Amino acid sequence: MRTQVGIIGAGPAGLLLSQLLHLKGIDSVVLERQSRAYVLSRIRAGVLEQGTVDLLKTAQVGERLDREALLHGGIELAFNGKRRHIDMKGLTGGSVVTVYGQTEVTKDLMDARNALGGQLVYEAEDVTPHDFDGDKPRLTYRKDGIEHEVFCDYIAGCDGFHGISRRSVPQTALKTFERAYPFGWFGLLCETPPVHDELIYNNHERGFALCTMRSPTRSRYYIQCATDENVDDWSDDRFWDELRSRLPGDIAERLVTGPSIEKSIAPLRSFVAEPMRFGRMFLAGDAAHIVPPTGAKGLNLAASDIYFLSRALTAVFETGSNDLIDSYSAQCLRRIWKAQRFSWWMTSLLHRFPESSPYEQRLQQAELDYVTSSPAAATALAENYVGLPYE
Ligand SMILES: Cc1cc2nc3c(=O)[nH]c(=O)nc-3n(C[C@H](O)[C@H](O)[C@H](O)COP(=O)(O)OP(=O)(O)OC[C@H]3O[C@@H](n4cnc5c(N)ncnc54)[C@H](O)[C@@H]3O)c2cc1C
Repeated sequence: MRTQVGIIGAGPAGLLLSQLLHLKGIDSVVLERQSRAYVLSRIRAGVLEQGTVDLLKTAQVGERLDREALLHGGIELAFNGKRRHIDMKGLTGGSVVTVYGQTEVTKDLMDARNALGGQLVYEAEDVTPHDFDGDKPRLTYRKDGIEHEVFCDYIAGCDGFHGISRRSVPQTALKTFERAYPFGWFGLLCETPPVHDELIYNNHERGFALCTMRSPTRSRYYIQCATDENVDDWSDDRFWDELRSRLPGDIAERLVTGPSIEKSIAPLRSFVAEPMRFGRMFLAGDAAHIVPPTGAKGLNLAASDIYFLSRALTAVFETGSNDLIDSYSAQCLRRIWKAQRFSWWMTSLLHRFPESSPYEQRLQQAELDYVTSSPAAATALAENYVGLPYE
């Protein structure tokens, strides 16, 4: 098989790239290790920056999002039993975030690729990139016991943190930066109305909690948990009791509980691999970087990488200019590191760290008080949360 761009991974990054390239007349093949149903069953991000929404509209997948998504002009921070509102819209001159689940984004992209005859291979085993340091890169994989080869001009490694792309690069060519946090997030999804019409980030002595949602009838709640916690040890009732104990009184009273649809634990990690280009192979999204979800940046960074990558590949195929592919890595990393900083800061501000002293806990409370009472500090939070500009 021959294509212009061979894409590894059918998460949001790989599907969005494939769709944007198609609309520019560039063909691609997407190779995904899992089944379509498995990819769609993963419950992950839910908060989209305006830049991500604009890019999805450019990719012609904004119709259902326009109909169903919720626009949020603010968030709440709760600490010491108090709730404080951050007016993101007012502080940023009108910017908002859009609440629309990653599962829905993925489904919209899959449907669009199918409608346009996109080549997506699910359950592709042993996908391997070859010869990306030369002029003739290729991908190999196995499907239903048959070996296949895809010859291409470029490879896009959009295969997430555990993918093969980054691991195929010689370790001497790669510099990695990492921080693992001493806790995880226990998430529960249920078919109940959200407890509040904005997200509430709770700093509590028992640990962080987040009240978020996917729609007016579907809620997502998270509680900070130990890294060795086991989902099976947590009945729904135990989760609800723990969540209630971390919420301000009026919110705890209003919480509507119900049977869980999904429960999972995610470890929290910050990670960056540099650079993001190796000859004719590019890394994008979680394949190159991970952020803790506190700042809601993971999916949004995957989208901004794809903005830069689709533009760079379009320029090469349309004009033969290498300028944008040459600057791809540096341009992405500038924005990535700012999102890394913000995600680390939000995580540090809101969680209970096992090693933190009473002195450090007082500093945390002072910072929360400052952020929620100083317009300058609140503006810094707001402009990062709604998303920094792409350029
Ligand atoms: C449990 C969890 C919860 C999260 N919660 C949030 C959140 O609340 N907010 C937020 O902003 N972000 C969150 N994130 C992060 C966000 O979901 C990711 O940043 C986003 O999915 C990145 O998209 P991606 O396309 O780069 O990678 P992925 O979505 O990981 O997609 C990569 C794809 O590549 C496939 N793949 C992997 N290896 C191979 C291979 N060898 N061959 C072929 N295919 C392969 C995978 O099956 C997958 O479909 C969460 C992530 C996880 C894991």
